Amino acid sequence: MSETFTSVAQEEAGFRDRTRLSFDLDADICVIGAGLAGLSVALEAARLGASVAVLEGRHIGWNASGNQLGTVMPGFALPLTDLIERIGFEDARELWALSKEGAEFVRSNATEANMPGIALSEGVIEVSNVDAGDRLISRLQMLHEDFDTEVEGWQVDRVRAALKTDHYFHGVHYPRAFQVDGRKYVHGLAALARRAGARIFEDTPVVSIDHSGIRKRIVTPSARLRASHIVLAGNVHLGAPLRRLSETLLPVWRYAGITAPLGERLNEIIAFKGSVMDSDGVDHFRIVDGDRLMWESPETTWAARPQRFAGSVRRRIRSIFPELGPVDITETFGGATGQTVHGMPQIGQLRKGLWVASGFGRQGMNTSAMAGQLIARSILWGDERWKLFSPFELVWAGGATGRVAGQLVGVWGRASSAAAGSLARYRERARAKDREREARLAEANRAAGTGPRRPPANVSPAVRPSVPPGARPRPAPPPQPASGEVEPAPHDGGVSQ
Ligand SMILES: Cc1cc2nc3c(=O)[nH]c(=O)nc-3n(C[C@H](O)[C@H](O)[C@H](O)COP(=O)(O)OP(=O)(O)OC[C@H]3O[C@@H](n4cnc5c(N)ncnc54)[C@H](O)[C@@H]3O)c2cc1C
Repeated sequence: MSETFTSVAQEEAGFRDRTRLSFDLDADICVIGAGLAGLSVALEAARLGASVAVLEGRHIGWNASGNQLGTVMPGFALPLTDLIERIGFEDARELWALSKEGAEFVRSNATEANMPGIALSEGVIEVSNVDAGDRLISRLQMLHEDFDTEVEGWQVDRVRAALKTDHYFHGVHYPRAFQVDGRKYVHGLAALARRAGARIFEDTPVVSIDHSGIRKRIVTPSARLRASHIVLAGNVHLGAPLRRLSETLLPVWRYAGITAPLGERLNEIIAFKGSVMDSDGVDHFRIVDGDRLMWESPETTWAARPQRFAGSVRRRIRSIFPELGPVDITETFGGATGQTVHGMPQIGQLRKGLWVASGFGRQGMNTSAMAGQLIARSILWGDERWKLFSPFELVWAGGATGRVAGQLVGVWGRASSAAAGSLARYRERARAKDREREARLAEANRAAGTGPRRPPANVSPAVRPSVPPGARPRPAPPPQPASGEVEPAPHDGGVSQ
């Protein structure tokens, strides 16, 4: 059995027992979709005493939820500064606190007793592709002082001691963030929901709903269900039951690969044992099974077979960690995430008894758990905190045109991040060379008994020799880029959240 990641083959062997809905049924709550979101709602609602039926068109964890890396962070896919700008500081703080509660919900479920082999391990680091120390410090202060989140700033040396690459500069370490076997988690969630009394039916697609009455009707090919509440947790594949809702999401497929065992060299080059994600959202990786590297990077706005991306994952690993040498990718996986136009999840009540929990984008572990808690507690306890999400309305994501635009924006964003990263590394190398040159010059001067010809850089202009009397001071020339160096387009290369 895999120590830290369940493979597709293990999943096929271990979780095959499926029940289809073949008889009419009544329930308090009908959840459509058995991904992280639907199962989190089902578990929480069943624990609070509701009768719950989950209808899943394929099988548990069929899409993104069963094909993800299992990293659990606080926050949302939307950067924190954007969140504050959008809804103000106080509401942003409340939403952030809810997102942390979501992460704690995952932690409390993902115990070895509940989910044997779940392999929870602590610590996530977000590394910056550009040299942005100042921004890092203000971000650390904000997270720690204003958002009550345990964080640690890592200087470049520390990052590079943990990850042997010159690609990354500073880092933000989240010691309370963690990771689990993502595939095992979604099946574990289903097992917990069943244990709490929820009924889960697979191979049971919902083809239509009638949400007008107090008792709502849900139609599947072989049976009907009546419920007081419907929770739409079908993500981008929801389709027929409420097509207009699906169209508020831009589907983005993300892919990942796992290498063959790499032996000791992997641990020498990657000493950090938690998840690593870069500040531009391009790469996300961690070591699994002791000496294999699990790496997520490519994305598309159309569905493709994950195997197609083995080569690009391999190349990506090579470009960040060349010292690893050539690696074989032995497993690939991927799924569609639903991105909203505003970057925040869709959580709330669309009309009486009709709920939505989707649009979690690339950060669905903690946010779907939070959605589960908010919706179940509103239905059963009247907790109204889901209303904090009201500023984020359902916005049409642009259909096919939106997908093309999304792909172009994604490609452009990644390319400009890569350019900014290379430039930062180029500057760092140039600075190191300058320092070496200065040291050699100083050494030569000392040996020759001559003084420096120009004042050292750290001498303030006030003590520099003044311009000789009568000579006109010349304006300093503008800094010239070195040959072959291109000035980057303006780019916010800060560590984002
Ligand atoms: C490669 C990859 C890596 C990722 N890594 C991370 C990570 O490390 N950490 C993190 O926080 N997030 C990660 N994510 C994001 C996370 O996986 C998603 O945000 C999350 O799984 C979304 O869950 P969901 O339940 O909304 O959707 P889904 O997983 O899509 O589940 C929806 C389910 O609804 C079913 N369904 C749809 N329509 C119907 C219908 N009409 N009738 C019946 N059933 C229906 C579908 O079959 C599906 O099973 C990753 C995603 C990918 C692709």
